[in-house]
Amino acid sequence: MPSVTQEQITSLVKLQKIEIETSSIKKQLSTVDQRIEVLDKKLLDFNQTIEEQKSLINELNEKYRTYESDLQMHLDRRKKSEAKLSSVKTNKEYQSSLKEIDDLENINSKIEDDMIEFLDRIEEAENVLKAKTTEFSELETQMKTEKEIIQKEAEEGRHRLGNLDAEWETVSGDIKAEVLATYNQIKENQAYKIGIVAVKDAVCQGCHMNIPPQMYNELQRGDSLKRCPLCERIIYWKDQN
Ligand SMILES: [Zn+2]
Repeated sequence: MPSVTQEQITSLVKLQKIEIETSSIKKQLSTVDQRIEVLDKKLLDFNQTIEEQKSLINELNEKYRTYESDLQMHLDRRKKSEAKLSSVKTNKEYQSSLKEIDDLENINSKIEDDMIEFLDRIEEAENVLKAKTTEFSELETQMKTEKEIIQKEAEEGRHRLGNLDAEWETVSGDIKAEVLATYNQIKENQAYKIGIVAVKDAVCQGCHMNIPPQMYNELQRGDSLKRCPLCERIIYWKDQN
């Protein structure tokens, strides 16, 4: 194991911190597009319910118009029946015409009832549309604000990344090539890319293994690079920092 100074260890810990923050910001940045898509989709879905409400109102209006023309047709027929009434010759014909008028009267009254019911339904549907439209514009404002927050965060993240890159260059420049190479090689074999961990009360904070007493004593002296026997990461004595 190469010899090491306390400053080298401190720099390695700093380097690891920079790398952890860098990776966390990169992860955050990689979700930006997806988070914005989710917001857009929310708005789009809500707009879809408004379109559905509009077509429901159209259907109701269309239906109402067929009632209107139906009523008109029956009113015309009633007029004809009434006109016929003055020209009937027999009592039987007279009675039959009266019955016809009466029947038409009943049909018309039923159609008018249906029309009133439809007007109520149209009014109700229009009120729902109005409420949904208001809700949509509120949602739109909310989504816009959320998007701005995401974009601002992303911008800050990119700015921070630039600073971290510069810091990384400075700090890694302070570390002996041999030490840095060991650190990089350890990270390469690991999913979480952690090359250096603290040892606290003789326990490795990376894998929770107890460090043997002899090694722990040497670690506390802090003059040579030590690696955890189990997880193989570089270790340092936490109480010193
Ligand atoms: Zn360990």
